[in-house]
Amino acid sequence: MVAQVIDGKAFAAKVRAQVADQVAKLKEENGITPGLAVVLVGEDPASQVYVRSKGKMTVEVGMNSYEHKLDAETSEEDLLALIDKLNNDPAVHGILVQLPLPKHLNEDLVINSIDPAKDVDGFHISNVGLLGTGQKSMVPCTPLGCLMMLRDYHGSLSGMDAVVIGRSNIVGKPMAQLLLGDSCTVTIAHSRTKNLPDVVRRADIVVAAVGRPEMVPGDWIKEGATVIDVGINRIERDGKNKLVGDVDYASAAERAGAITPVPGGVGPMTIACLLANTLTACCRANGLPEPEGLTA
Ligand code: NDP
Repeated sequence: MVAQVIDGKAFAAKVRAQVADQVAKLKEENGITPGLAVVLVGEDPASQVYVRSKGKMTVEVGMNSYEHKLDAETSEEDLLALIDKLNNDPAVHGILVQLPLPKHLNEDLVINSIDPAKDVDGFHISNVGLLGTGQKSMVPCTPLGCLMMLRDYHGSLSGMDAVVIGRSNIVGKPMAQLLLGDSCTVTIAHSRTKNLPDVVRRADIVVAAVGRPEMVPGDWIKEGATVIDVGINRIERDGKNKLVGDVDYASAAERAGAITPVPGGVGPMTIACLLANTLTACCRANGLPEPEGLTA
């Protein structure tokens, strides 16, 4: 079997176009422009690249982008004061604090100071609780992107066996909650899981979110399974720098029914879902119907 490639780049472009259409409608019919504020503390090079591309895409879909770049030595008090200001600014519908934060800042405290209704990353403890209890919440962007691709490919996920490898708060745990919400039978695997190959071999859906280059070989994959590779790992091969996932793509593609590549799979969906979440937050804040197909 040769797997169908799930093209995350094309799908993300489609999601962004949907968001842009809805934003244009909101402006025309309601005179509202959604606004996303991104806060970056310090000069981490990878974070700077992410923030720049988030800002660019926010503007491309017609939203307002507000970037706040703070010094690496910024005090917790000053950061919390900025978040309070953004929480109370009606032009700002989404707030994202770029992680990781410099060591002297308490990430949990900072994230939990964001108004949950504006928490477009979905990391606030209230949103985690709402998702865990099947209530309307803001859903973390990467798992939401994975769910959208799975729904698009399969239609219903009901009754499928899903294995999520990784139990982080950012990817693994919310991914498992979303799959459970769509009535999959879910197993969460991690570094202490026994017989991981056998656990993975049972799965109709495998989501790998580990951070170990090409850890999952093709012979762990059940014939015809759908493989979603969240991993982004930089390696050197044949003297060149390369991006690879957590799944060994070549061997997995020989057994899977469908698979996401790295790059060009889950990665582009993450920013598309951030824009979708900002639109959703804006609609909710204004008592308008939520955009269809862009939420969990
Ligand atoms: P974390 O490091 O927070 O979590 C990794 C998880 O993998 C942990 O739960 C860990 O288990 C588990 N793990 C580690 N080693 C093994 C092993 N040998 N067998 C089974 N499980 C193992 O990573 P994140 O969840 O933040 O990210 C995972 C990957 O996804 C990374 O490559 C990251 O770059 C990528 N990523 C991609 C995004 C995108 O937009 N595409 C967005 C976010 C992340 P334990 O808990 O027991 O330690």
